[in-house]
Amino acid sequence: MTTMALCNDHWDELRDAVREEGLEHLESKNPETAAVRTLAEFEESDDPEMFDPTMFAMWNMLANGSRIFGIPLLLIEGCPICWLLTEHDLNCSHKPGCRTVEEITSWPTKAADASRKRYESLVGDDDAT
Ligand SMILES: [Zn+2]
Ligand SMILES: [Zn+2]
Repeated sequence: MTTMALCNDHWDELRDAVREEGLEHLESKNPETAAVRTLAEFEESDDPEMFDPTMFAMWNMLANGSRIFGIPLLLIEGCPICWLLTEHDLNCSHKPGCRTVEEITSWPTKAADASRKRYESLVGDDDAT
């Protein structure tokens, strides 16, 4: 087992982004519910009752990040966002115009947006764009 987990700062950032999308009322009320819903998500449940916007956003963010950086972020010990930022800081030549940090820090917002769209598709909202 790996011990990948977002640090408090990045988790808060993601949760705040999800709340800004107006999904706060959908958050799981306790870790048990979140765990059950995460499993449902893996099983591609299309039941809106089983939707956890923050967990969805987290998986979306990790999948996205893994694709961009070509490494499985799920396998990283600790917070994958902090890890990427540290790695980047060590390896980047810090040329002006490097947008990596900007890219990484935009993930919570993008993931929350994806979460809202996913929820809209689950409830069949025709206005979903
Ligand atoms: Zn972090
Ligand atoms: Zn850079």
